[in-house]
Amino acid sequence: MGIAIPGDSERWRCTGCGNLTRFDVTRTVRSRDYVHLDLSGDGDVEERTVLSETIESVRCRWCGATDSVEIIARPDADRGSSSESATGRS
Ligand SMILES: [Zn+2]
Repeated sequence: MGIAIPGDSERWRCTGCGNLTRFDVTRTVRSRDYVHLDLSGDGDVEERTVLSETIESVRCRWCGATDSVEIIARPDADRGSSSESATGRS
């Protein structure tokens, strides 16, 4: 399948049930971490740079479908067609 990461003006949508907001995302991330240790060896990752990121699957939390998630434009991206019901008000 190979679903992409939505861009700034895009979002995911489940074509099966219309879910826009809840997904289980399985992704492979390749990152470079800045690990800061103290002299005893304890430490934390203080900074993480994502070098590459691949979405393996996006699963709808509502209906459980893994093959029906599509990318659509966000409502803010094109205000011309705003006749949709505004349930996403926060
Ligand atoms: Zn769904």
